[in-house]
Amino acid sequence: MSIIKLHDKYFKSYISEIQIQEAVESVVQKVYADCKDETPIFIGILNGCFMFVADFVREYNGPCEVSFVKLASYQGTNSTGKIKQLVGVNENLEGRTVVILEDIIDTGNTLEEIYKIFEDKKLKQLKIATLFFKPDVFKKELPIDYIGISIPDKFIVGYGLDYDGIGRNYASIYQLTTKPTMKNIVLFGPPGAGKGTQAELLRDKYELIHISTGEVFRFNIKNETELGLLAKSYMDDGNLVPDEVTIKMLKAEVERNADAKGFIFDGFPRTESQAAALDAFLEEKGESINGMVALEVPEDLLVGRLLERGKTSGRSDDQDESKIRNRFNEYNTKTAVLKDYYQAQNKYFGANGVGTIPEITERLCSIFDKI
Ligand code: AMP
Repeated sequence: MSIIKLHDKYFKSYISEIQIQEAVESVVQKVYADCKDETPIFIGILNGCFMFVADFVREYNGPCEVSFVKLASYQGTNSTGKIKQLVGVNENLEGRTVVILEDIIDTGNTLEEIYKIFEDKKLKQLKIATLFFKPDVFKKELPIDYIGISIPDKFIVGYGLDYDGIGRNYASIYQLTTKPTMKNIVLFGPPGAGKGTQAELLRDKYELIHISTGEVFRFNIKNETELGLLAKSYMDDGNLVPDEVTIKMLKAEVERNADAKGFIFDGFPRTESQAAALDAFLEEKGESINGMVALEVPEDLLVGRLLERGKTSGRSDDQDESKIRNRFNEYNTKTAVLKDYYQAQNKYFGANGVGTIPEITERLCSIFDKI
């Protein structure tokens, strides 16, 4: 996923759900190897641990008990150093093996408090398991028995961890980043919807760089570059150029305009893997897609429009109805799903693409202004 905003701050993806799951499994395996002959009590340290505990115990296949204590030490993004015990342990823990489940250990202040809480409980043994650990800021001489992932000192949210109360519900981990400065828009729509015409008008109004992958390919074909020769056979038949080629070219176009205020992507992404590559690429720069703005036009209107355009555009793929039909087929089978991709991120904005050019521009501007 892309950049998220929580309160006044921005966060970018950092640790994926899969990486988290692998880390949870590795901690479970180590704990199980040590505790399989008894019934340990897993004690989660609320609030941040709830997702870790839920995943941990589902993965743990031996007999066990589960309980929680609630401590508080964070305010905003800084550890205050003072820890309050809000809910303590009520169980009789004498002679038992207790495994503490922590979402993250950084300075070690909370950990110190945990050791104090269990000091006089006459446990058989106290073990500490943490999903995340920040070795660079850990200041205590206290043992930690099981560590999922060691990370640098970055403020993170998600998977139970919050920034001032929010962000706990994300399934993966995000890290603090700078405020994005670009406006990046995917202009979307079937072939002939008017993306190119509108993109040029919007580019001037919003001072954005317009990248049309189709145009870049046509430019390369005209100049008989290696890329052009590669793309030509696909384009001539109305097929999509392979993702690997297109993504590489797109990245180069963005890099060429490193100082841009933002981009209008026209004709890209056209497949889910292009969309994911674009998200990841922008995220590395601390930027993201603001929205997909889609021109919605019925298909039967478009074939006529394209044939009409073919009379003057000189585009061979506009002149033959079977090639046009194939472009729609490519669109419907590979590209149209991107609506769902962006909708899932609350970034899909549809606009009626039937009308005069100025009418449509106005509709698009009202969307551009708000995203
Ligand atoms: P367009 O000018 O956007 O209609 O694109 C014309 C042709 O260029 C398409 O039919 C494809 O063959 C190729 N093309 C443009 N953009 C892409 C893309 N993002 N992925 C794959 N092929 C593309």
